[in-house]
Amino acid sequence: MSIDIERHARHILLKEIGGPGQNKLARAHIALIGVGGLGAPAALYLAAAGVGKLTLIDPDYVSLDNLQRQILYTTKDIGAPKAQRAKDRLTALDPRLHCDIHAVKADAQNLPALLQGVDVVLDGCDDFETRFAVNHAAIAAQIPLISGALGRWDAQASVFAGHESETACYQCFVPDIPPEAETCERVGVVGPLTGICGSLMALEAIKLITGAGQVLKNRLWIYEGLTARTRIVTLAKDPACPSCGTL
Ligand SMILES: [Zn+2]
Repeated sequence: MSIDIERHARHILLKEIGGPGQNKLARAHIALIGVGGLGAPAALYLAAAGVGKLTLIDPDYVSLDNLQRQILYTTKDIGAPKAQRAKDRLTALDPRLHCDIHAVKADAQNLPALLQGVDVVLDGCDDFETRFAVNHAAIAAQIPLISGALGRWDAQASVFAGHESETACYQCFVPDIPPEAETCERVGVVGPLTGICGSLMALEAIKLITGAGQVLKNRLWIYEGLTARTRIVTLAKDPACPSCGTL
């Protein structure tokens, strides 16, 4: 697909992206697990960035209490399927975007087919079972996984790549499903934090596709909204990891 030079002029000006990087974005296929708090801003920026194909996987319907943070949707979308409304909004932003939608919950059974031909997967879901399934499927498909999580005032994100010999996967970082997992539904989340973290996930995807800079592999980005403090914690591959280990 040819690129729209005027639309993407500000990316083409960047020496780390330029015309060649913009061409890579136009040929890229990115899957998003969930188009909610994290997936909504990530999808908007990826569509705006000229990514050629997005696959959106989300079984949910837009509800009134989503609108505090899920900026893809408006009041008139309440009750409509998120994946369809997200596609409508994203293709309005760029009609050349190819957008596949699947109104299903991602799981171990359907993920291998859903990730076929995908270059990068973004996981913005809010349950551990799905995160583990996505991690597994990403390793099997040999694609990087950009994972983000939120709660209350705090966000974290990283790039996992368990298929690579030196890179941690999600399960190297979270070995077991925590018994008392906190979800935004239970503990709340401040709205703009979803934009900060979802945008960072989109940025990591653009870096992965274009080869710009250093992505967050083996590094966990942590942002504390109440203090505006950012930290980076080093992660390591666990040789005994059930998903990607070699022991
Ligand atoms: Zn692992």
